[in-house]
Amino acid sequence: MTIPAITDTSDISATLRRVFGYPAFRPHQREIIEGVLAGDDAFVLMPTGGGKSLCYQIPALHRNGVAVVVSPLISLMKDQVDALRANGVAAAFYNSALGSEEARRVLARLHGRELDLLYISPERLLSGGFLERLREIDIALFAIDEAHCVSQWGHDFRREYAQLGLLRTEFPQVPLVALTATADAQTREDIVRVLGLQKAKHYITGFDRPNIRYTVLEKHKPFDQLMHFLDARRGQAGIVYALSRKRVEELSEKLRDKGLRAAAYHAGLPGEQRQSAQEAFLRDEVQMVVATVAFGMGIDKPNVRFVVHYDLPKNIEGFYQETGRAGRDGLPSDALLLHGAQDIATARRFIDAVDNPEQRRIESHKLNAMVGLAESVTCRRRVLLNYFGERLGDDCGNCDVCLDPPAQFDATLDAQKALSCVYRVGQRFGVGHVVDVLRGSDNERIRSLSHQSLSTYGVGSDKSEQEWTSILRQLIHHGYLTQDIANYSVLQLTEAARPLLRGEQSLRLAKPRIHEQLKKKRPKLDAGTGGYDESLFDQLRALRKRLADEQGVPPYIVFGDATLAQMARDKPLDEGALLAVVGVGQHKLEKYGRDFLDAIGDYCLSNGESGVAMEPPLRDTWLAYQEGLDLDAIASRRGLPLTQAADHLLRLIELGQPVLAERVIAVKKYQLIDAALARLGESAAWEHLRGALPAFVADHEIFLVRAGR
Ligand code: ADP
Ligand code: ZN
Repeated sequence: MTIPAITDTSDISATLRRVFGYPAFRPHQREIIEGVLAGDDAFVLMPTGGGKSLCYQIPALHRNGVAVVVSPLISLMKDQVDALRANGVAAAFYNSALGSEEARRVLARLHGRELDLLYISPERLLSGGFLERLREIDIALFAIDEAHCVSQWGHDFRREYAQLGLLRTEFPQVPLVALTATADAQTREDIVRVLGLQKAKHYITGFDRPNIRYTVLEKHKPFDQLMHFLDARRGQAGIVYALSRKRVEELSEKLRDKGLRAAAYHAGLPGEQRQSAQEAFLRDEVQMVVATVAFGMGIDKPNVRFVVHYDLPKNIEGFYQETGRAGRDGLPSDALLLHGAQDIATARRFIDAVDNPEQRRIESHKLNAMVGLAESVTCRRRVLLNYFGERLGDDCGNCDVCLDPPAQFDATLDAQKALSCVYRVGQRFGVGHVVDVLRGSDNERIRSLSHQSLSTYGVGSDKSEQEWTSILRQLIHHGYLTQDIANYSVLQLTEAARPLLRGEQSLRLAKPRIHEQLKKKRPKLDAGTGGYDESLFDQLRALRKRLADEQGVPPYIVFGDATLAQMARDKPLDEGALLAVVGVGQHKLEKYGRDFLDAIGDYCLSNGESGVAMEPPLRDTWLAYQEGLDLDAIASRRGLPLTQAADHLLRLIELGQPVLAERVIAVKKYQLIDAALARLGESAAWEHLRGALPAFVADHEIFLVRAGR
């Protein structure tokens, strides 16, 4: 199982290639790994799918001793360990899911210094003298995965996590790495404080998940809306979140009635049933899981293509985390939110039932922010990222608002009114009150604060409450105002507001959109991998499923979708070419290489492809040809002169690829050349042939027709 010892400990790139099969590091990975190798602590904030695991897995292989990885969920650990083993890394997990015999074996391997990584639950780490055991062996590093679980402010608080701070004090020489995908400023502070990471370097990559397309629809016959959405995504894996257990059961049954393979999952179902729903999903045996938010934290399945929120989530953190389960493999994926007034009322009822007033207040503000996102008429991604304190340069181009923009208007004057009103009320009030002042409302609160005497009182009486609310929300999303959710959602001006207030800048905003159209736009599934051969992809997928079943692991542990797609594009026919595919490392090459090479070879043979490996420029021309482009279009797609594109096609013909000249040049010309060839004979001298054809027929066209006959 173990990979050969690493000889050059400095070459982490070689490990990345050889063990994991990846050609290059993602942003920050190298810095983090080098920092940990130098013995530094690290705080890593990266979005889901950003590649956090490698940040401690590679140091684990390069440093002496075992890396101890604390992880909150059993299924997550098993998954990571399976994935590591598939790459030939010596890893194990230690948690309550192990029988006593297995547990004893893991401990023996630990003491025998056989492990590179040990995944452990916080309970096990902190009990039964486990820390004493760790003192007896070398430890490469500690990694705390899902580190936000230390924070009470967050939504996944775990009591045991709060005690993990003692790792820093008990093992001062061992680097500690905390990793999370969800952390607002408050949670970030908690993590640093609780885990004793004051000296840690912070590595914060953007929150953005550019491959996820966000769409919000006003709820109207939601089941039909869902079916419409699913119709465009047949066979693709996804999760549908609903608010209550009852709703989950009803919905999954209705989907099954429609012939779809949908499993239900919520905390009220028996353990085995939940387990089997999860397993079936991981193993690509059901298409989707309909679930409450109880589902998903342990789901590392990288090829989830969509996440639907059938009901409005309670806060943006949860929404972002749940939608983040889509597209971990980086391929295009969808997040659909159905949003209705009734849901807001239901969510408010839940919040009203909360005992603790402080918590009620926070939850209520968080819900407002969520509603703000759902009702937004600016780029959804801008709103989301802004909520996490991140600015987006340009609108994203991959959300419903960007793809189907609402009408705009010149809002300079309105913005000035709104901003100066925020200023006049002392930057101490929220949206509702500012709107009341703008509209000149006459109510108790205004009178008791004497706000009817402000210069901005009533300056906006020409607009409805809904319009002003929309304007204020957009000013927040664009960064002219901030809204302090921890402090009664009070509005405050930012630096950016000044030039606008001074009239040095104009501003266009979107007209509020009350009704949205359900536009059917199929996401392209091939970004990053270029066009690939879908029928070969399906065959490779079937092979992957068979191998995975034989070994009792989920299919993605064998290879990810992106890896299969690249195989189906490049059609590697030897080990070298297969190793060049992203996600194919040395160990997997040895384990699965033969099976996949055979499958690709058979496929190429039975489809009349020569089976000759092509160099990439030629292959790209071949792919363009297969898309049905003519010579002009191939040349411009490839950025080549016509003659060179023609030359590629000639070489493809020589390689035995079925290139048809009549498909790439004008029919008229083809007929002329073809007739001339028939008249003069195949072996006619070139000058002869050339002389028999008019000048508007190019030399390379003659070559192509002749070669293809
Ligand atoms: P996170 O824990 O941040 O959600 P993972 O560590 O699970 O993300 O990584 C997400 C996916 O990206 C995994 O399939 C992983 O193998 C892949 N990945 C990570 N780093 C790289 C890289 N440098 N090149 C290619 N793929 C990578
Ligand atoms: Zn957008």
